Amino acid sequence: MKKGFSFAALIFLVAFIFSNFSLKAQEIEASGYEFLKKAVAQISAENITRMIKSLQDFKTRNLLSEQKSDTFGSGAARRWLIKEFQKISGLEVVQDSYFLPAQGQRIVRDTELHNIVAIKKGKAARERIIIVNAHYDTIAVSRDGRFHYDDVNTEAPGANDDASGVAALLEMARIIAPLETEATIHFIAFSGEEQGLVGSTLYARKMKEQGRKVEAVLTMDMIGNIKAGNGYIDSTRIRVFSDDPSDSPSRELARYVRRVAEQVVPSFEVSLIFRADRFGRGGDHTPFVQEGFAGIRFTEARENYSIQHTTQDTIENLSVNYVMDVTRVVLASVLSLACAPEAPAVASERGAPLLGRGRGYDAELRWNWEGDREKIAGFKVYVRDTKAPFWERCYFAGRGDSFLLENVSIDDLTFGVSALGVNGLESLVSTYRMPPRRRAEYNFREIK
Ligand SMILES: [Zn+2]
Repeated sequence: MKKGFSFAALIFLVAFIFSNFSLKAQEIEASGYEFLKKAVAQISAENITRMIKSLQDFKTRNLLSEQKSDTFGSGAARRWLIKEFQKISGLEVVQDSYFLPAQGQRIVRDTELHNIVAIKKGKAARERIIIVNAHYDTIAVSRDGRFHYDDVNTEAPGANDDASGVAALLEMARIIAPLETEATIHFIAFSGEEQGLVGSTLYARKMKEQGRKVEAVLTMDMIGNIKAGNGYIDSTRIRVFSDDPSDSPSRELARYVRRVAEQVVPSFEVSLIFRADRFGRGGDHTPFVQEGFAGIRFTEARENYSIQHTTQDTIENLSVNYVMDVTRVVLASVLSLACAPEAPAVASERGAPLLGRGRGYDAELRWNWEGDREKIAGFKVYVRDTKAPFWERCYFAGRGDSFLLENVSIDDLTFGVSALGVNGLESLVSTYRMPPRRRAEYNFREIK
């Protein structure tokens, strides 16, 4: 009798400790979301309006347009942008510059290309980089309604495409710069997007060649239009494009954004589109994805094709309130990523996933995480059906580096692990991915 009682008490105690831990983790997470909400509340309609207007007032920001004027063309726009970033203390502003000889159909003459990069240094000992970007160049069809890439000084105000993204970028740089972050953030205004993602391609290649640790790339391109050319209006959601497969790092980044937005901007919907981009299109996230980094694209729910790339792309034809909603989502996501701990590694250096079958018929997940464990509340284990779009179950795994799910087949489900900081901010979820199987080669001779 006495023995039975103490056993029951032990069960009760274990259950209490477990529920108490998860309850505490929820409290910690709530404080993280409060921090993000405070940051998001600082976004100013006035700032965003002023920046979109200033950018469209340069008339064109075509890569190949006028460079010397102080009021017209991409040279003036570039110098204005540098000044705007320099006004924000805590940022290092650099030009990432290239010479491009005339080539292909679109770079019709020799040119210089300048990406503007504003760097907010993080305090993590190991390098971690989050890239958030928009493109400051524009293009417009010529008077005959078609593109002529040598027609470089036709007016191309590009308020929506993509001054909306650049304004969001500047506004979030202003709000994030004074805050302490773990990861380093590169706020980048790319150029040459309209000539074929030129600036982002060169930057992505540079990051890859230098072996830089880019954790996430978030591209904002056209985030202000709410009315389609056929009259349909949608101001309630933003599309986020992410490339296949369903367990790719890009897809996981998209899920992260959706989760953060649900908590921080609940009135606005993040619509995940499980596709690299719109049909036949690419964006400045594309070159990063091609180099193996996680990259996603934010674009308005409803596009107006009759305004895009015309002199009609002005601030009167977009919604500043909508730009603000999208800015809230992206700012919260970037700040959360930058303040969260590094994600655990769930594969060996040779790429083998760190999971096994436990005692034969279990799922035993292991992970590596180098860092100060005092700074994390614990790890979170995620599970979903392989066909499910989003994580379905979550377990708190404490500060250890393994977790056992009894009588669970590792073949039938998708698993992931994240690290939750004591500040309530969570890392990306690292997914256990099946490495590609090599084709077998045999020595043989066919018998006829
Ligand atoms: Zn664009």
